[in-house]
Amino acid sequence: MNKNDLRHYESLLKKERKQVIQEIENIEQKIKIDSPEGNVDTNPYPYHWADVATQEENKEMDSQILSQMSKKLEMIDSALEKIRQETYGKCEICGKSVEKERLEIIPYARYCKECRAKLDAQNR
Ligand SMILES: [Zn+2]
Repeated sequence: MNKNDLRHYESLLKKERKQVIQEIENIEQKIKIDSPEGNVDTNPYPYHWADVATQEENKEMDSQILSQMSKKLEMIDSALEKIRQETYGKCEICGKSVEKERLEIIPYARYCKECRAKLDAQNR
């Protein structure tokens, strides 16, 4: 992979990183607003039970997305680190180059198509 390629994927990664951080901030903001703390004392019956259930569900979903996003952020950061060390684009299992069309879609991919497929088969 030459320097131009690396620069291309670096910019893809940085763009993706910005979006992920934005998303994390949005969710954190939302969780803060949804949090009922503060008006519990002033109003003994602030919520209808159905609302509470929906809120709990939403919270669960939000925290799931949040953990997915922070995982993604980690992968993006480690890919950016690999670009700095010029080891970017190599499969972490077999050491072969990860397919470029794959990196185009998932610039933080750690494995080549073949190894990914094997891992997926194992996890099933
Ligand atoms: Zn591989």
